[in-house]
This record gives sequence, structure tokens and C-alpha cells, in this order.
Amino acid sequence: MFIGNFISFVRQFRVDHRCRDLNDLLGFWQEYDFIGLDRDGTLGGHHAPKPDPRILGVLQTISRRTEVVSNCAFCQLVKIRDIYAEMVSASIMVGFGEMGLPHLLRFEKGSGKLRVLRYYPTVGMLCDVTSRLAQGDALFEKPTRIYRKPNPWVLQAVVALAVREGRILARNPRVLYVGDKFFTDVRCANLAGFEAARVKTIGQLSDLREWRIDFVLERLLFDLPIGAILSRLADMFSAH
Ligand SMILES: [Mg+2]
Repeated sequence: MFIGNFISFVRQFRVDHRCRDLNDLLGFWQEYDFIGLDRDGTLGGHHAPKPDPRILGVLQTISRRTEVVSNCAFCQLVKIRDIYAEMVSASIMVGFGEMGLPHLLRFEKGSGKLRVLRYYPTVGMLCDVTSRLAQGDALFEKPTRIYRKPNPWVLQAVVALAVREGRILARNPRVLYVGDKFFTDVRCANLAGFEAARVKTIGQLSDLREWRIDFVLERLLFDLPIGAILSRLADMFSAH
């Protein structure tokens, strides 16, 4: 029993593509119907005010199949919209009140408009409740929680919406999630039933002084060394 649980845990760390940065996606992005992107460390440094110039070209190339799927607070999502709305939509999953259903908060590519969609995780359905919960960029209620990765709901909801709106046409879509962290990004992809690409963190050293010490310790002492070992073990245990 313990071994079975351990193997299923290790499989959450399966990495399908090990990349230096987003540019490596140019070799295989067309194999996927949809690509979800982490923001911090993947598109730029932590809370960077603009995308890293090294990844702008690839982001533009893959933009019609990709979206930012983040873990951040709503105020940061507004900043992501301000930086990326020309190229990609951006979403987070939050809760209002203690027992309520999760809600997808989403800034749309192009228009930059805020949408709010109630998500029913057990059936994978979404209901647009924007007019009830938001006006312009403002929410009527403050979210009481964020459903953070590795919780797979935010990624599953974004894919379900893309299917519903015809942006994904394949019957069994092939979905990739790209991020720099093993314990959140890679696990989120696997728990959602999709594929994972891991990139090396952008700005890890150059932005170190701007990072909070707990982020640095988590990154260098926990996520990177232990995640890398579990990812190699996942290769052994995965028939994929
Ligand atoms: Mg990241």
C-alpha cells in the first residue's frame, strides 16, 4: 500500500520535456492543441514588470495556442493583463466565502476584459457569472482563497473553457503545461492529466536580491533538488 502510494506520488513529477527556457518549445509546440504557461520564473523574473526579452519571440509564435495559468493574487493578475494581454489571456482560480464553488478569474487576450466563471470541478463545467461578480476590472467581493497549483482545477477549467469556446478543436486534446517548479507546475500538469515541460527559472540569480528569502530557500533547498530526484524516479515508474 505504502509503495503504491509512493509510486503514484512520484508519478506526479513526470516531466515530458526538459527545457532550458521557453525557446525550446519551438521544436515541439505544434504537437500540442493547448499550452498553459506559468508566469514567474518562466516568462520573466519574479513579479517582473515585463516579459524577458529572450522569450518574447517564442511567446508571440505560440500565442494562439497558449495562455498564462497562474497562482498569483488578483492584484498580480491585473499586472499580468497589463503586460501580456496583447499576446495571451491569463487566469487564476479563486474562492469567495468558505464553502463556495471555485471561480475562474480571467483577463481576455486582446480586449483585456475581466471575466468570472463559476467552475464545477466534478463535472468540468463552467458558468459565466461576470455580471454578478464584477464590473470593469473590479470584483464586487474580495476572493477569500486562491486555488493554487498543484491543485489541477485552474488548468482543467482553462482547457474546458477553450474547448467550449472552440479554441481547442481536437476531440482528445493534447495539452502541455510549462513551468519552472516541480512541486507546483509539474505536479499540476500531471494531476490534471496533461503533459509537463519544465524550464530553468529565469532570473534566478540576477533577481536574487529582489526575491524574498523564503522563496530562495524553498527554491534552492527544496523544490529544485528534491523535485529533480523525484522527476528522475518518475521516469523509472512511468510507462509513458
Ligand atoms: Mg514559476
